Amino acid sequence: SRAIVWFRRDLRVQDHPALANALRDYEEVIPLFVFDEPLLRSQVFGAGCVRFMLDCLAELQRSLAGSGLSLRWRHGDPLEDVPKLARDMRADAVLWNRDYDPVAVERDHLVMRALAKQGVAVRTFKDHMVFEPDEIRTADGGGFQRYGAYRAKWWAKWRAAAPESATLSPSRQSAVPSKEIKPLPSASDLGYQTIVPAIPGGERQALARLRLFLDGPIHRYGIGRNRPAQDETSVLSPHFRFGTLSPRSAVRQALRTLSDRDSQRNGASRSDVVTWIDELVWRDFFHQVLANHPHVAGEPFRAAAVAPRRPDGPEARWLFQAWREGRTGYPLVDAGMRQLNQTGWMHNRVRMVAASFLAKDLRLDWRWGERYFMNRLLDADLAVNNGNWQWCASTGTDAMPGYRIFNPALQGKKFDPAGEYVAEAARTA
Ligand code: FAD
Repeated sequence: SRAIVWFRRDLRVQDHPALANALRDYEEVIPLFVFDEPLLRSQVFGAGCVRFMLDCLAELQRSLAGSGLSLRWRHGDPLEDVPKLARDMRADAVLWNRDYDPVAVERDHLVMRALAKQGVAVRTFKDHMVFEPDEIRTADGGGFQRYGAYRAKWWAKWRAAAPESATLSPSRQSAVPSKEIKPLPSASDLGYQTIVPAIPGGERQALARLRLFLDGPIHRYGIGRNRPAQDETSVLSPHFRFGTLSPRSAVRQALRTLSDRDSQRNGASRSDVVTWIDELVWRDFFHQVLANHPHVAGEPFRAAAVAPRRPDGPEARWLFQAWREGRTGYPLVDAGMRQLNQTGWMHNRVRMVAASFLAKDLRLDWRWGERYFMNRLLDADLAVNNGNWQWCASTGTDAMPGYRIFNPALQGKKFDPAGEYVAEAARTA
């Protein structure tokens, strides 16, 4: 029997449900990646993001080759390429991990239909989330709009039945000789500039970064996460985005630091660990918002909440350009935008300030900012980016009374009191 494993936003081998199941159930396994030409042509994502993905793929290709699996790749339209490879290889089944973005859901549905017509079985798995949108429902079976209630259910579910990890069967084949590995395309082959991302991609990097974070910063996270000048958050978001790290194993490992004797001696803190995991709960939350309310991609969740906007025209365009280039005159906003433009990453506290500034002070359309972030961030993720932008613009699900405005000057004083973050951005400009 022969199966294709279609890799998408799950570029790793450990705790990979589709790969683990394929290796267990089929005699021959063919890994596949499709560089989605229509998506790449749309340039929604930027060069940094594409290059990060290529680095992740290069490592994935090597890891698979070490287990005797040769990664096939195509540059085209998955709607045609996946069924075609299944036909050419006479595959019995195609396995993949689910993606919840509306466009991906539609694409997967069409691929599934084409495969069914060919008599090829399709098996899909949960992977990208800790809990999928369908797993956490309100009493009447709907999706959640309030984070607090969602969070309570999420933790109750974790305590009742934490998701298991997918164990990989030991390799049955000898390694693929390096001369037989088909080199991946370069960023320029895909129509993008070659930018070296400030955060290196790949599963090994993700695991090393997680280890480093769990060995110390996580136990100071409650305070550390609000200090943009210090390296106190995990900087794992691009890895979660491209699936070089399983969110379920990250949660398990984070909780394990609380029972590990060495960490306890070093002042392990349950509240800090829980606060960090809560960020991954936010991630699941925003994915279920998008899955249950696909209109948020492009529209406010609550249209009535849109505050009066500056009319589109030369002034609005000029202000938007100043914001993008980090020339607003507000040091924290400008430092954040420079960090984004130079590295493809921005600290969360500063993302909130910069987004609030665009929507509330400049009174520009938050969707301009959302699109710009998508095109610059290495962790660009539709559900999470959109959810956070809507939260900052006060148009989202979270019904906070009043109108939340971050004062960029006070935020700077509070969270970057010595001006180190601003100075660092100016130094590297
Ligand atoms: P940590 O503090 O170590 O948190 C661990 C993980 O939890 C992160 O890696 C991330 O996967 C998740 N997480 C953290 N904060 C949030 C949050 N507010 N909402 C949802 N998940 C979270 N994050 C993205 O991954 N992609 C985006 O496109 C994105 N766009 C954003 C846009 C705006 C306007 C704002 C305010 C935030 C955005 N975030 C986005 C959320 C957050 O800023 C980043 O996830 C975080 O800064 C990543 O750094 P870290 O890995 O060190 O996070």
